[in-house]
Amino acid sequence: MVDPTPALLRAAETRLPQLIEDVRRLVEVETPSEDRAAVARGAEVVAGLIEQRLGLTPETLEIDGVTHLRVRFGSVPPKVLLVNHQDTVWPHGTLARKPFTQQDGVLRGPGVFDMLTGLAMSIHAAAILAEAGEDLTGLGILVTGDEELGSVTSRDLLLEEAAEARAAFVMEGALDTSLKIARKGTSMYTVVVHGRAAHAGLEPEKGINAGIILGQLLPEIEALGSAEHGTTVTPTVLSAGTTGNTVPDRAQVEVDARAKTIAEQERVDAQIRQLSTDIEGARVEVTGRINRPPMERSAAEELYARAEQIAESIGIGQLTGAEVGGASDGNFTAAAGVPTLDGMGATGGGAHAEHEHTLVENIAPRTALLAGLIAATLSDSDQ
Ligand SMILES: [Zn+2]
Repeated sequence: MVDPTPALLRAAETRLPQLIEDVRRLVEVETPSEDRAAVARGAEVVAGLIEQRLGLTPETLEIDGVTHLRVRFGSVPPKVLLVNHQDTVWPHGTLARKPFTQQDGVLRGPGVFDMLTGLAMSIHAAAILAEAGEDLTGLGILVTGDEELGSVTSRDLLLEEAAEARAAFVMEGALDTSLKIARKGTSMYTVVVHGRAAHAGLEPEKGINAGIILGQLLPEIEALGSAEHGTTVTPTVLSAGTTGNTVPDRAQVEVDARAKTIAEQERVDAQIRQLSTDIEGARVEVTGRINRPPMERSAAEELYARAEQIAESIGIGQLTGAEVGGASDGNFTAAAGVPTLDGMGATGGGAHAEHEHTLVENIAPRTALLAGLIAATLSDSDQ
């Protein structure tokens, strides 16, 4: 096995310009999750990069119309899985407004932090080890195309690839020198109030105003959260009514719920379904469900300790473990019992936000850390 010494760091530094060039290629093909053809085009670019840097052709898997890529070194189920997605939240046209740039040690462009830099790091960490003559049998790289939509079509594939894994490294970005060791679980709901339409001028009294009823329910919905348990329940997108002179017969709100434990997720799930109204003729309908279970801290602890050791021996300094509210595919692997370390990708910030960016200075050290973790975990003997 490669000594997790400064040699890894040097190799990563040597590759840095090429790695950044690959980030540019990834950013410059727009892949909004909703556009399946665009996601498929993005997958082709990723497959091309993998062929070029690693000399092997990923399998392209189309599931319910969404394109995903899978690489299995040695054609065996992965012992170590690198979890990536190449879809982004950015609509077409973002690139024209915010092109890829590298300036003052900062990379910018749609998806650069979430998570195209991490994807390029996955490819180059594997390439560093291959170049050093490491046997990568048992390494898997997954690149999905619908993570930003909740991984609806990729979840089973992810769990299949992770089934025999000793470690899943999720290549999402992180702040500063942190890795993510716990993430809240997420649930998504839609609450619909059905009332009755009427002409707002002629006979408003014959209507049942769904908008007013929903307005009364909003504080109740938010109150399903619990500060004590770190549970949040947030009404988000609101809509009601059809025209300016009609009593709305329908009003709806989307609800984002997050919790640290499955017990809290289930409590909110049961309570939100009990929402109702006393108003005669009106009705409340709740759809949606628990989407991602929480990634509880225990799933990361051993891997995190190993990451700290390797970081020290490579000479990249102290790491910190962060607990965060956002969910990722790491929630699925952790809930399936696979040791999971998340936030292994770029550092920077602004995921899903205008100021999205990646810091260049941490790319090489964290690529070296990833390479060290892959090598160390692959060389563990089977229990
Ligand atoms: Zn992401």
